[in-house]
Order: sequence, then structure tokens, then C-alpha cells
Amino acid sequence: MRRSIVILGGGVGGVITANLLRKKLSDEYEITLIDRETNHVFAPSLLWLMTGDRNAEKISRPLSRLKRKGIEFIQGEIEQIDAQNRTVIVNGENISSDYLIISLGAVLTPEEISGLETGFSFYDLKETERLKQKLWEFQKGRVVVVTASPVYKCPAAPYEAAMLIHAFFQKRGIRPQVTMSFYAAEPAPLAVAGTNVSEGVQQMLRERDISYYPQHQITKVDPDKRELYFANGVHDSYDLLVYVAPHKPPRVVQESGLVGKSGWVTVDRHTLETKIPGVYAIGDVTGIPLELGKPLPKAGVFAHGQAKVIANNIAHKITGEGQQIEFNGHGECFIEIGNNKAGFARGNFYASPAPTVKVHQPGIRWHLGKIAFEKSWFRTWF
Ligand SMILES: Cc1cc2nc3c(=O)[nH]c(=O)nc-3n(C[C@H](O)[C@H](O)[C@H](O)COP(=O)(O)OP(=O)(O)OC[C@H]3O[C@@H](n4cnc5c(N)ncnc54)[C@H](O)[C@@H]3O)c2cc1C
Repeated sequence: MRRSIVILGGGVGGVITANLLRKKLSDEYEITLIDRETNHVFAPSLLWLMTGDRNAEKISRPLSRLKRKGIEFIQGEIEQIDAQNRTVIVNGENISSDYLIISLGAVLTPEEISGLETGFSFYDLKETERLKQKLWEFQKGRVVVVTASPVYKCPAAPYEAAMLIHAFFQKRGIRPQVTMSFYAAEPAPLAVAGTNVSEGVQQMLRERDISYYPQHQITKVDPDKRELYFANGVHDSYDLLVYVAPHKPPRVVQESGLVGKSGWVTVDRHTLETKIPGVYAIGDVTGIPLELGKPLPKAGVFAHGQAKVIANNIAHKITGEGQQIEFNGHGECFIEIGNNKAGFARGNFYASPAPTVKVHQPGIRWHLGKIAFEKSWFRTWF
């Protein structure tokens, strides 16, 4: 009988792990990837979809294309994970594995905050299309960007979105008729990366006349009055609300028995193995505490690095070739600021006592770097 590796989730972590394992292992091993979606979407480009610089087709690929590489793809809802037995139920059927990899990401739960869903989001394809349309129609008034919980994927994304909306309105010639505010649940932008990064981003918001209010936890949106209410008693009005919803692990993960105190899956921070041997979790679904008391940010770059580690180590266990490696917490990120410019930050998030992050001045070269990365993404993995 063929031995089998089952990968849950066809996002960043899942697609990379499947590709790398397929290259490293012989056909004796079946590699199966499962996702409810038909398409993989390259999330960093949602920001460009929002501003009309991309279309949906350009930033997504059918997961079924992985079959050409010898990776089985099952489209379906993962209904249950039996970690102890490395078995899952998908579309009502049991699927067993020798190694089980969980890369199921985070689900967005705007319904947790009354009225939030009446706003606009750029965190999935359909929602971003809606926001794009709205940005084209908008003529004047108050735009408010809100993060509805301090932990969300890509800590840079809402700040990039605010700056890109500013640049978009400038291009349309309506910026003088628009006021912009940003209410954040978190204490500062990209706080894990250190005060230099936080202050740099706040300075960029000031330069664009975007008022910034950190540590404001939104509690309610009244769409009829167009009012926002915050836990500290502050309230404000808006004409266009752009939000990042609270995040949670998918239900099937919450019920798997693998979730720890952080509310996310507990893993060894170097090997990404869960408490059950042969069961690994990577990417946004994990909660990895850092020494400074905050979690490792949820970002594709970390899911990517972790996928490389587990693919290498599982292949090593099976074939005996090469050697075990460890995830070292290194990551990097482009920060789009509009007008074809981006900044860039790179660092070691496992550094002690706090992450060490180097920031590069914004310029066209980092924007071009992100475009090159987007191109290589689809070429490499699909
Ligand atoms: C607007 C935006 C911009 C971003 N920009 C960047 C960036 O510039 N750099 C960066 O590093 N990161 C960025 N990110 C974050 C990055 O996209 C995520 O951190 C990354 O996708 C996490 O990978 P993952 O494999 O953990 O989860 P995902 O990529 O979210 O994949 C999870 C998959 O699991 C599937 N799934 C979940 N539950 C089930 C179920 N029950 N049954 C079947 N399938 C299921 C989902 O459909 C999904 O395909 C951005 C995110 C957004 C939204």
C-alpha cells in the first residue's frame, strides 16, 4: 500500500509543503492536499486588487493544477481532525495519513462585533472586489480604517491599505474632499517589529494626513447613524468603513484538541510538531509566543519558512537523506505605501530579548521587488 502525507489547507503553507515534499519523495508516497476552495489566492496582491491594479484572475490559480505535479487535490470541507490517529473526515469520508500537516489559516469573524459586516474588507477576494467598487464611487466624506482585534494576519496590511487608499484618492483628485482616520485595536503599528518600525509607519500616516488612534477596541457599528463605538467610550462617525475582522482558528481546528492557551495550535517553535507525533501545524493557525510576550505575527513569510522546515524534516525522516533543520524565526515584508513605492523590513523574530528588525527606506525598488515576488510565486508553486 502507498504511504500517505495529507496536507490540510491550500494556502501559503499547504501549497509550499506539498510542492517541496513532492520533489523530495518518490511515488511510493502519496501527497494529498485538501481545501474547500477551488482557487489559491495570492493574498498580498489583494491590496492591488483593491486599487484596480490587478484582477481576480491574475492573482489566483486553480489548486487542481497541482495534480500536474503529482499532488492529489481534494476539494472539500474538512469536517473533523482526529489528530491521535492522523485521520480527517472530508466530504463525509475518512482519510488516513502517515504524516498530517495542518495549515488551515485563520477564519475571519466580523459577526463578533455588531454591525461590522456592513463595512468593507480587503481580506478576501469577494470582499475586496466590493471595496474596489466602493472606492471608485466614493466622492467625499469620512473614511475610517479599523482593526477589530490586535492579532490579525499581515500586521502591515491595514496600514498599507490606508496609504494606498490615500494615494488612490489623490490620483482621482478627490483627496481634499476626504478625511481619513485609522482606529487600531493594537497599541502601535507592527509593534512586534520594534519602536523604529512603529514610529516610521506612524510618521507615514501623519505625512498623509491620516489621523491615528491606537488601542481603540471597536465594540459596535451603527450603520444607520454611520457611527462607530469603542470600548474606551470614544465614538466617531464615518461615510466609508474599511475593517480588518477579528481572527479565529477554523472550527475544525478548535475541536481538534490541539489548541493551547494562546487560542491557537501549540507547536514546538523550531520543528512545528504538535503534541502528537507525526502531526505538524504551520502558518496562521499556530500560536508561537515570543520572548517579549507577544506572538509571532501571522504572515505568509513565516508559513513559507515553516513549510520548508517541515518538508525537509519529514523527507529526512522518511529517506534518511540530508539532516534535520529548525525554523529560526526569520522573516521579511514589503510595505506598500502608494505611488509605486514600498518599504521593506527584514529581521529575526526569535532574537532575544526582542526581535531585531532592519527597515529599508521606501522606494520604487521594493515595489518592483514585490511585483517580482508575485510573479515568481505562481511560476514556482503552480
Ligand atoms: C490583504 C492581505 C495582505 C497580505 N500580505 C502579506 C504580505 O505581504 N506578506 C506576508 O508574509 N503575508 C501577507 N499576508 C498574510 C498571508 O496571506 C497569510 O499569513 C498566509 O496566507 C498564511 O498561510 P496559511 O497557510 O497559514 O493559511 P492560508 O493561506 O490562509 O490557507 C488556509 C487554507 O485553509 C483552507 N481551509 C480552512 N478551513 C478549512 C476547512 N475546514 N476545510 C477545507 N479548507 C479549509 C482555506 O480555504 C485556506 O485556503 C496578507 C494577508 C492579507 C489578507
